[in-house]
Amino acid sequence: MVDVIIIGKGPAGVSSALYTARAGLTTCVVGTDKSALKKAERIENYYGFESISGQELLQYGEKQLSRLGVEIVEGEVMDVAYSDVFIVTTTSGIMTAKAVIIATGAPRNTVKIDGLRRLEGKGVSYCAVCDAFFYRKKKVAVLGNSHYALHEYNAIKDVASEAIVLTDGKPCEEDFGSAKVIDKKIRKLIGDDRLQQVVFDDDSEIEIDGLFVALGQASADVLARKIGAVSDKGFIQTDRDMMTTVPGLFACGDCIGGLMQISKAVSDGAIAGTAAVRYVKAKK
Ligand SMILES: Cc1cc2nc3c(=O)[nH]c(=O)nc-3n(C[C@H](O)[C@H](O)[C@H](O)COP(=O)(O)OP(=O)(O)OC[C@H]3O[C@@H](n4cnc5c(N)ncnc54)[C@H](O)[C@@H]3O)c2cc1C
Repeated sequence: MVDVIIIGKGPAGVSSALYTARAGLTTCVVGTDKSALKKAERIENYYGFESISGQELLQYGEKQLSRLGVEIVEGEVMDVAYSDVFIVTTTSGIMTAKAVIIATGAPRNTVKIDGLRRLEGKGVSYCAVCDAFFYRKKKVAVLGNSHYALHEYNAIKDVASEAIVLTDGKPCEEDFGSAKVIDKKIRKLIGDDRLQQVVFDDDSEIEIDGLFVALGQASADVLARKIGAVSDKGFIQTDRDMMTTVPGLFACGDCIGGLMQISKAVSDGAIAGTAAVRYVKAKK
């Protein structure tokens, strides 16, 4: 077990790790290579750099952490739970910590399917672990093609009477084993009070009770909801110390909303890191 696990290795995650590691906490940063910063060709509004690419800035951040001896695990986080300690499920295994900082950037795993938004909470869910109970002995589908979709499929398959995978026209990135996979593009979802049908582009349709959206990697909002932390319109809610509504769980950077810029992500990370240090030391 480590003192703190930080999810995300963009500016917010790295900044928070600098503070936890320098304060003597054992720190593990788990992240994938998908920071928003990677897309920034030129940055000319960040303190100390006349002009720098996002890719370069990210490399400096990782180097800084390595110099401090922070463990950086390349992997995707699919679940965060709490049972005496935080339990973080990643593609590289299960890890435990006394505190967790979510720094996974802005939510961006959306898809435009007619009816999807309208049926959210009425058959459309974003968390198989949270909502599986409501779909006992019902027919459900997981929408996605990635490792995270496989994780959600595994969470629901034994509870539902039937579980299938819908890739919305995309090729599978994972081996879904014996699962039935439909790779047709989805045109719309049908249902008044509850989801009833999925209609595909070729006019075929299937009857369904529940659809679990699991596109790309788990977003901050989904990770927060899995452990019961409050989020609003996709952004995690925190107090002034960046603590979420779950004690010991912090969030910082683009995933909490506000100004989506590096300077604010770095500041949030510093606040979350120092608050996590106080939290862990108070527990010892
Ligand atoms: C095209 C573009 C240009 C920009 N230009 C500027 C600029 O000039 N100046 C400026 O100040 N800002 C700019 N920004 C904004 C800036 O990039 C963001 O505000 C900043 O990167 C936010 O930092 P973050 O650490 O919160 O999130 P991110 O940098 O997005 O990092 C999130 C991290 O979490 C990881 N992650 C996400 N989900 C998971 C998961 N389930 N498991 C494990 N890891 C996960 C990601 O892989 C990544 O490592 C730009 C953004 C874009 C898209």
